[in-house]
Amino acid sequence: MKKYLCVIPFVLFLCFLMACRDKAAKGDQEKPTPQAKVEAQAMKTIRMEKMNWPDIKTAIESGFKTVVIAVGSTEQHGPHLPTMTDARIGDDVAERVARKLGHALQARTIDVGLSEHHLAFAGTISLKPETLSLILRDYTASLVRHGFTRIVFIPLHGGNFETVRQAVEEASQAHPGIDVTGFTDMQGLLDLLKRNAADYGISVEEAGGHAGEYETSMMMALEGRLVAADRFAPGYLGLFGEAERKLMFEKGMPALTANGVLGDPRKASAERGEAYLEQLADFVVSKIEPKTAD
Ligand SMILES: [Zn+2]
Repeated sequence: MKKYLCVIPFVLFLCFLMACRDKAAKGDQEKPTPQAKVEAQAMKTIRMEKMNWPDIKTAIESGFKTVVIAVGSTEQHGPHLPTMTDARIGDDVAERVARKLGHALQARTIDVGLSEHHLAFAGTISLKPETLSLILRDYTASLVRHGFTRIVFIPLHGGNFETVRQAVEEASQAHPGIDVTGFTDMQGLLDLLKRNAADYGISVEEAGGHAGEYETSMMMALEGRLVAADRFAPGYLGLFGEAERKLMFEKGMPALTANGVLGDPRKASAERGEAYLEQLADFVVSKIEPKTAD
């Protein structure tokens, strides 16, 4: 018995050696390629403000040639939502879009936009169209310099659409060979809101164009603690056609709504908000993809 006992350490040593060899072989096999390393890094974050320059450079050189930027606003969103609402929703949708496009990074969200018609309410900060235009021009020039070949701006705040559309046109002319795109399909966005509302049994008037059920649900999904549910109250629920839109831009939001809300947030839910965000991102991708296929 004693004879066998003294063999045991030797057997254990052999097992240890074999385990080490297996581990080394496995290590060789699984050694990540530079591309895989970049992909793994991108799984952690595609937000450039959270990355360092060497990782961003490697990502661009490895094929992450698209960059997505949300253009939000800092403006009143009724008594129940924070002023960052458009910027926060845009920021989230831009990340979803970048991930869906693949091989795309996200640049810091532009979180102030054109909100002059909201200035009667405290906390709103508004840029002039020419200021936003210059910001978009400078963003584009910086991003092109780093090697991005496709730049996608996602405004998601109605007031920004026209300026983004013009700035994208100018940027495309200034940077031939670079695909500069802006999602500026306002009608498409309104149609999506109508479809979404109908799918969940919410009326278009409740879903609303500003701080109604639609935006409130999305903010409940993203920043639940900042949503003041005890202040949910209906805002303007009437017809919102060309005349009302004109009145709103010329006289400001108070001409239509005393509390700053277009819609009614009372049926909002975080679960529906998550679905809205995902559908919104899918919609934006479907609208900007044909250009990339060229
Ligand atoms: Zn908004």
